[in-house]
Amino acid sequence: MKLSWQRRRLHLRHAFNIARTVASSSTDKQVLIVRIDHDGAFGLGEAAPVSYYHQSHDSAEKALAAAADALGDDPFAFDAVHERLWKLIPDQSATIAAIDGAMHDLAGKLMGLPVWRWLGLDRSRTPLTSFTIGIDSLDVMRAKVREATDFPILKVKIGTPDDRAILQLIRDEAPDKLLRVDANCGWKPDELVDRVREAIPFGLELIEQPTPRGQHDTLPATRQAAGVPLIADESCIDLPDVLACAGSFDGINIKLSKCGGIRPALGMIHTARAAGLKVMLGCMVETSVGIAAAAHLAPLVDYIDLDGHLLLADDPFEGIGGDHGVITLGDKPGLGVTDR
Ligand code: MG
Repeated sequence: MKLSWQRRRLHLRHAFNIARTVASSSTDKQVLIVRIDHDGAFGLGEAAPVSYYHQSHDSAEKALAAAADALGDDPFAFDAVHERLWKLIPDQSATIAAIDGAMHDLAGKLMGLPVWRWLGLDRSRTPLTSFTIGIDSLDVMRAKVREATDFPILKVKIGTPDDRAILQLIRDEAPDKLLRVDANCGWKPDELVDRVREAIPFGLELIEQPTPRGQHDTLPATRQAAGVPLIADESCIDLPDVLACAGSFDGINIKLSKCGGIRPALGMIHTARAAGLKVMLGCMVETSVGIAAAAHLAPLVDYIDLDGHLLLADDPFEGIGGDHGVITLGDKPGLGVTDR
């Protein structure tokens, strides 16, 4: 298998902020598109490294250079390739996810089957995706909610001193939509029950990552007060985290760039189910290539938040839809994504 890659510069429709990045006004975004050629076919994958998980475009490119000779020549040897990659580049999960995605795309194309099909999944079970509203001034957030009028589910970033005003604004603009909130670790453990009691009257479907990773002591009592599922994101990176989250959270948010791709995500989904946890699939800001890899697992989960490509002004790829929150698993082989 021959590995190559390319940096792609993209632009967001709006600056995108969460509780720990509120000052950024950048709309620039870079990702790495990874390609694996084999036997006249090719597969595409995407690395969207983020500094919060100690990864960068430079570290990803270094990891890709190191991985190029370790892929071997069997595009169906997923476990063997993963074993070699985790030894070689153990802290570069976004890069491993890109290679894993490209191998799934390639294997599907070699078999003439879409990934969801050869995984044996029922595409009619794909949930609707939420559309994310990042933190900004209230006026800009109002404009974003109005732009998102076609999306039936909103996920709103909170975890700020203005949470009440943000939630009031959302409900004024969108009184009937399903509403998810993500505090991105922005609430302190000792204020948690109060913050949750303040938010719940706005009618929430779930609350994501209320407190920082490792600060879980007040979560069990808060689950009672909340009455809606608490979902772990920053607290649940990979398989060993899944069981650690049971007891504190009601569910986990799996992102391929955190866990290393479709293959490890499958293990996390089955483990979460065995532990009685709900499962969400999330994403970074990424093109349709990265989003598609996660989307092929969507029939297995309760919630999807796969809108990274919808936040871009210039996604260079297409194939998985997203209008009105409908992610489409089509009949094209592999990930089903092509150049726009
Ligand atoms: Mg999150």
